[in-house]
Amino acid sequence: MRATDENSREICPYCTRSEWRSTMNVNINSDVNDVALQHEVGARGAVVKGNKPIDQLEAANRFIAAQAHEKMHDNRLWDLRKKRDAQMHLIPEWEELRQLASDIKEHTLDHLAHYLEMFEKNAKDNGIHVHWAQNAEECNSIAIELMKKRQTKILVKSKSMLGEECGLRKAVEKEGINVIETDLGERIQQLDNEDPSHVVVPAVHKSRTDVSKVFTKTLGAQAGNNDIHYLAETQRETNRPLILKAEAGMTGGNFLVAETGAVVVCTNEGNADLSANTPGMHIVTVGIEKIVPGLEHLAVFIRLLSRSALGSPITQYTSYFRGPRHHGGEMHVILVDNTRSTRLADKKFKAGLKCIRCGACMNTCPVFRRSGGLSYGSTYAGPIGLILSPGYNAHKFRNLPFASTLNGSCSNVCPVKINIHEQIFEWRETLAEKGELSLAKRILMQAAGKILGNPALYRAAIKNADRALKYLPHFIVYNNLNKWGKQRDLPPAPKETFHGWYEKNYLKKESVNE
Ligand code: SF4
Repeated sequence: MRATDENSREICPYCTRSEWRSTMNVNINSDVNDVALQHEVGARGAVVKGNKPIDQLEAANRFIAAQAHEKMHDNRLWDLRKKRDAQMHLIPEWEELRQLASDIKEHTLDHLAHYLEMFEKNAKDNGIHVHWAQNAEECNSIAIELMKKRQTKILVKSKSMLGEECGLRKAVEKEGINVIETDLGERIQQLDNEDPSHVVVPAVHKSRTDVSKVFTKTLGAQAGNNDIHYLAETQRETNRPLILKAEAGMTGGNFLVAETGAVVVCTNEGNADLSANTPGMHIVTVGIEKIVPGLEHLAVFIRLLSRSALGSPITQYTSYFRGPRHHGGEMHVILVDNTRSTRLADKKFKAGLKCIRCGACMNTCPVFRRSGGLSYGSTYAGPIGLILSPGYNAHKFRNLPFASTLNGSCSNVCPVKINIHEQIFEWRETLAEKGELSLAKRILMQAAGKILGNPALYRAAIKNADRALKYLPHFIVYNNLNKWGKQRDLPPAPKETFHGWYEKNYLKKESVNE
């Protein structure tokens, strides 16, 4: 067992190359000496009630109220962003790579049917069974049917956002099959009965003390022992026997290679390899947009994925599955549509299908870092969630596109150059056209439209608002109509407006000189 004061594990401790010496782990030791983190209870995320619009602001306010957790979350994700930047600077052709990746995705999406059929043919030639699912229900029922045929009692499952999107775990559990998540973060979330809060680091909002409490309650771990190696070992020791007993294994797929009919899965724990190779049957559930034409194209994405996600040169395990592992074993790939065809036909939002789920846009987003992934009440949170979620249900996720400052940082870090902030803005317009703005927003927008459409009125309003802000009582500015104002104070109003300053310093001087 490693020493307990080790801050993070090196990718390869023996290698001297600087890019390999960067650390892969998020700094999870942050609460060793932090008394507040050890006593504070983190927020549980958005309240989800059927089709009712998710109140992200309310959940974000609870997240911010747990101050030590908010600080820890913000620091961890910003740490990942910094590591991503460091890796980017080591690759001189980084911007060309991003453009290339974006172009490959564009081309593949424009010829999606062709590449999917190519994949199907080559996969079948490799001995893989290929299934097509139009929606989540079809995906789940195909997977359940396959498991029933093999009399599956235990399914070991590697982390998959598509699985989350389809509600696969719950559907399988309803059939009496015991589902065991093999990714450490995902297992923590499963045991705590919570969804993943981030596409790459599912339990990033939890401190090690939180994890210790979950393991004490569910795995019988020693109470109060929050040593990360002890906790990881506890999870490993309880999971490994189940992996050996499981009749079926399930993984997602980061990429499908059309020319070879193979599935590529990237993990840092090797858990996908255990899930795929140990049981007799390997089921892959994967979205149809994950296809790339050939191996040379795959290489571009492999170079970008882990650098963008965790700031490490490559994922620890980049596994290439090209057929059943065992003699007599089975490998099935379920190709899932679930709204992807509809998005493909929508020029405004098609680019969202380029996403490789690296999470870089989440790590850089100031709103995500300070509100936590669970506050979005959706499988996909953060900037990518703002543009994907309303495509699944515009009414339920109508508030999400407003949880952004539109600063464009998400688009700048995206390895496949998705115009995320522009799409967020497009969604705001689309939701307004669909009549999905709340009454308060409609009234405010109408008033803002009148003021912004009239320069004289705008200048007068700004001048008066700045003056008024200095004297208005606190409760008038910070009340229930201004939910973002909770825990977020406005900066002091400037002494004069930019227009006033410009008029005084330039316009008047120019007229004197004339
Ligand atoms: S939108 Fe871009 S940055 Fe965000 S998860 Fe997808 S690929 Fe990564």
